[in-house]
Parts: sequence; structure tokens; C-alpha cells
Amino acid sequence: MTKLTNVELLKAVFQSLDALFPDMVSWRRHLHQYPELSFEEYETPRYVAEKLKNWGVEVREGVGGRGVVGRIKGHGEGPTVALRADFDALPIQDEKAVTYRSKINGKMHACGHDGHTATLLALGKVLSETRQLWPGEVVLIHQFAEEVAPGGAQPMIDDGALEGVDVIFGTHLWSGLPLGVIGTRSGYAMANADRFTIDVKGRGGHGAAPHETIDAVVLAANIIVKLQQIVSRRVDPLKEAVVTVGKIQGGSAFNVIAERVMLEGTVRTFDAFVREQIEQEMARIVHSETTMFGGEATFLYERGYDALINDPKITEHFKTLMETLYKADRIIEMPPTMGGEDFAYYLKHVPGTFFFTGAGNSEVQAIFPHHHPRFDIDERAMLLAAKALMGAALDALWQHAWPAHEAKGLITAPEMQLHEQS
Ligand code: MN
Repeated sequence: MTKLTNVELLKAVFQSLDALFPDMVSWRRHLHQYPELSFEEYETPRYVAEKLKNWGVEVREGVGGRGVVGRIKGHGEGPTVALRADFDALPIQDEKAVTYRSKINGKMHACGHDGHTATLLALGKVLSETRQLWPGEVVLIHQFAEEVAPGGAQPMIDDGALEGVDVIFGTHLWSGLPLGVIGTRSGYAMANADRFTIDVKGRGGHGAAPHETIDAVVLAANIIVKLQQIVSRRVDPLKEAVVTVGKIQGGSAFNVIAERVMLEGTVRTFDAFVREQIEQEMARIVHSETTMFGGEATFLYERGYDALINDPKITEHFKTLMETLYKADRIIEMPPTMGGEDFAYYLKHVPGTFFFTGAGNSEVQAIFPHHHPRFDIDERAMLLAAKALMGAALDALWQHAWPAHEAKGLITAPEMQLHEQS
């Protein structure tokens, strides 16, 4: 296969994706109207598997629980490339005024995973149709339960989702980035995301007789203040860390001293040592601040997703590739975010990169942050995400065979090919 053929094929698959855009929108809107929560996905994986089977993709269902893995073999020997999309929704009431608003009370695709799924479906269809034209194998990982730790990634990996895979790519549609922009990040990209619960026990009593009690509200207040000193006084100032108490619950009346107070919160870090250190410092503060006044406390620290670390070499190559295929000034370097993402686990097994595809646009009310009741995406972001993933996949399958200058200008900027928003 000559280099020119590769470029022509790339053009052809991008045209196929363009032609599929109205379908992507309708798949996404269907999923958007029928969201399913993490670990409760039933219709969504069925919907995905049925489509893939209809397109002749070899499908395995129930992978690691509720995941769907599609495999497409090309025309000969070559690398195996995995592409991943998550498909779970959130327990949020959809407050958007759009025709495709969620039909399920209290559940909503408020993170764009419906868009990820529609994007990967389009890739599955086009890759299946063109399998005679590229070498190697593509693995389509449709993942359940990204939103809630322990998540779906690890069980899917344990169940063979990454078998034979050489490299993996994934993207998150991002309302905080404008449509048309692609954000990459080498190394640490998303945080260790942990959760803690502190149950403070004192001795209740009359609000007018504090000397006869052990005031759990005061104990909790001392704990909260001391916790803030972990990041400022204990953690290396050159390392990132967050300790947030997000929930406090205790007391029953204005003139009663509370016997118990519950605190809940989250810890975000990148560094493994800092993560360990914060847990230990917290345990020490909780213990000493309560026993000091005769109270007691239980401290539960639950590790969530590990930090997401993008392979520097692959990320750098991906960035150059996008600058070549798309537009140099629209590929930006993302700062790391303290959010969590279980794509991290795939990257522990195989090298790859997770990037952000801008989906924000005030013209279509895609201006709200992720997990907001009015969150939405500019759907054209799906097309750019699909082209970026397709470009990355074919480039990897061809083992970086095409010369940069020949490929230039192949991904057209989304605003140059506005699709009707039906
Ligand atoms: Mn998400």
C-alpha cells in the first residue's frame, strides 16, 4: 500500500464519518433520552451491541459485567488499536428545554457519555466497512460505569478487553473547551480521586451546660480547620493536592449539644506518595483532635480512581498528528485537571493517550459545566472527536506510515462544514 493510498483512504473515511453525522446525532439523542446509571446499564449495552452486530463487528457482551467489546480485523498482520467510550449517565434531573431531554426522572447524560458512545459507534461502522483497507485489528471498548468507583474499566480489563492491544486512545467531549479545539496533555492529566468519611462522636447534652458534654460540633470544627493545614503545611509545595470537606451533618436543635457529627469529603492528588501522606495526616488529625477532648471518631478513607497518566511519546505523536491533519492553532496543551477518570486503568496496561475534544458553544447553549442539570454539548464535537480518533487509529495501524505534509488539511474545521442541527 502506497502512502498516497493511505491519504486517499483517510479522506474517504472522513467523508463516511461526515455522511454518518446525522445518524450520530440521532443515536446520541436516543441515548440522551434514555439514560442509565452506572452499574444499572441494561438497554444501553444492548443498543450498542445490536448496532455493532448489524455492521458485522464481532461482539462480546457482558464484558466485566455490563461492557461491550467489538473486534474488527483488518486485511493482514499489524498492530492492535483500542478505542474506548463510556456509556453511563448520572443521577441528575435534566433541566434543559430541548426535544431530546431525558425521559427518565432524575437521570441524565450530564457528562457527554452519550456523545462518546455515538462517536465510537460511528467509528465501528466505518472501520467495519473499510476493514479490507487497513492492517491489524481494532478493538472497540464500550465501557459501563465510569462515573462511580470502582468503575467499569478494571473489570473489563480483567475480562480481556485489552487482550493483544498495543495502544489505546480515548477522548472526553468537554463543554469547558470551545467547539473545534482539541486539548492534549502529556503525563499526569487527571487526579487520584479519593473519598473519606469521618464519624465524630462526643457526648450530647444541654446547650446551656457544655461542661457536662463533649461537643461533637466543636470537635468537627477543629478537625475541619486542621485538615486545611495538610495541604498548606504538610504537602510539598511543588506537588498538587486538594482536601475538601463537602458535607457536614450533625445536631438536632439550637439548644442541644450534638453527640455526633458526620463529615464527608474528597482528596485529589497526582503523586502516589502525597496520596499516602494525606491519608496518614488525616488519620492523625482526626484521632488527636477528638481524643484531646475525650471524644472519639472513626475515619474511613476510600481510594477511588488512580491518576490518569498519558504516555508522553504517544501523546506528543498524537499532538503532531492532529496539528498535521487538522490545524496547529486549534490543538492546545491542557493543564491537568483534579477530576477523576477510570481511563487511567487502561493506561496502566497499555500505552496511549486520553484527550479532550471541545464541545462548548454558547450558540447552542452548551455552556454549562459537566454534571450540571443543563449540561449539553455542541453535537458537532462528536464528528471532530470521531475524526481525531480515526486519524489516530489509522496512523497507529499503518505504524505512522504517512508523511505529514501529504496529510495536511484532511480534517476540515467543524465551522467550515456546519451540519444542520435538527
Ligand atoms: Mn465523564
